[in-house]
Amino acid sequence: MMTSAEIRKQFLNFFAQKEHLIVASAPIVVKNDPTLLFTNAGMNQFKDYFLGNKKPESKRVADTQKCLRVSGKHNDLEEVGVDTYHHTMFEMLGNWSFGDYFKAEAIAWSWELLTQVYKLEKDRLYVTIFEGSEKENLPKDEEAFNEWRKVIDEDRIILGNKKDNFWEMGDTGPCGPCTEIHVDCRSDEERKAVPGKGLVNNDHPQVIEIWNNVFIQFNRLKNGDLEALPSRHVDTGMGLERLVRVLQQKSSNYDTDLFTGTIAEVEKLTGKKYTNTDEKKDVAFRVIADHIRAIAFSIADGQLPSNTGAGYVIRRILRRAVRYYYSYLDYKQPLLFELMPVLGLQFQTVFPELYSQLDFVTKVVKEEEEGFLRTLEKGLKKMDELMSQTSNRVIDGKAAFELFDTYGFPIDLTRLIGSENNLQVDEEGFEKELQQQKTRSRAATAIDTEDWVVLDDTSSTAFVGYDSLEAKSKVA
Ligand code: ATP
Ligand code: MG
Ligand code: MG
Ligand code: MG
Repeated sequence: MMTSAEIRKQFLNFFAQKEHLIVASAPIVVKNDPTLLFTNAGMNQFKDYFLGNKKPESKRVADTQKCLRVSGKHNDLEEVGVDTYHHTMFEMLGNWSFGDYFKAEAIAWSWELLTQVYKLEKDRLYVTIFEGSEKENLPKDEEAFNEWRKVIDEDRIILGNKKDNFWEMGDTGPCGPCTEIHVDCRSDEERKAVPGKGLVNNDHPQVIEIWNNVFIQFNRLKNGDLEALPSRHVDTGMGLERLVRVLQQKSSNYDTDLFTGTIAEVEKLTGKKYTNTDEKKDVAFRVIADHIRAIAFSIADGQLPSNTGAGYVIRRILRRAVRYYYSYLDYKQPLLFELMPVLGLQFQTVFPELYSQLDFVTKVVKEEEEGFLRTLEKGLKKMDELMSQTSNRVIDGKAAFELFDTYGFPIDLTRLIGSENNLQVDEEGFEKELQQQKTRSRAATAIDTEDWVVLDDTSSTAFVGYDSLEAKSKVA
């Protein structure tokens, strides 16, 4: 069986042989871009090449990119651990052509890599191409269709809509159709009984998308017209964890060697087993094995947990993971920090920035866990009280705010616990409370500079611990 390290290496070697320059992953944390907190696709670091603002060092590039999809356009957080193939942090393998090769080469090479190098069975593969849209004046991707026809049966080429098969950066600017490759991982009997064709893009847990090839060939103008770009580009992305799952013939990404080391460590620490039978416990194992990667790589790339912006995203993920081991693995002390040595070693040669800062990252994670564990139990009790008291199955905004402000519960954690108990959260009410607090803290700052500010001090929540003090001084 091929290891994940070998699989990653083969991808890069394959494209190196096709004269691609192999570059390093950009940091997972994005600095200096008001539109993006974290890298969510391989192409982010190359945006300026597509826009024509910068010239690339090489017209052909390939890499493995650390990505995070927990906010903004791509937010997969709620799927993570519940399904077995959406992660918060994942590696996106990619190859690019900046004004060089186009559809013929990209399609032929992706087929060659999957079927000849990785030796995937051809009759498990399906591809999608853009069907076109008259309403939006977008043509069907006949070119991609004709390229695919050279290597795959026509009835395995599926027409896809704009949502799945057309990529655009924004309302204007570079855009174009894409073609995606899906693998049917069901058993032979299941495949015989029901063909996989209709299951593509249908969220079937065993029929999964692995690779997207985007062809940037148009420029969308302000008036909505499409104009052909003078130079056309290829931008591809393949999730390494999904590819490894398929090649190691597992039915879950978490059963691949990318995750089994961490899961074994969690088993050892908690004395619990990842059985694939007890749903709640298993989700907890998967969430922890997933979230620790997002936390570790973000901190290693310079994003400390905090109460605002990207830092709060990391803090939210960490608290979410803590609550999973606390409630479902019955583990009441810091755990995540103990996983760092396994993770650091596993990625030592691919992303050395983690291993080289391991002591620091471990310390930050441990302190964050300790901080939240100080208020978590009281917060959960409070939550139980609230849930037993509600008459309309809604946690009101004031209560959600108290959980946030006093016990350090991010709103999505309250929402998650609520939904596990069939309760909703009054999010509007929560926002209102949050805004009021912001106004209060602005007034509190104003007291230093003005003489006649009278504070309306109606907030009388008790101090519970270190984190609530922090939550009070700044609000996300
Ligand atoms: P999906 O439909 O499964 O959510 P996507 O269409 O949003 O995937 P793309 O934006 O096309 O994904 O990204 C390219 C590739 O990156 C996907 O084909 C998939 O292999 C991988 N990928 C995307 N999102 C995730 C994720 N959250 N976790 C792991 N791999 C992912
Ligand atoms: Mg997605
Ligand atoms: Mg998709
Ligand atoms: Mg896709």
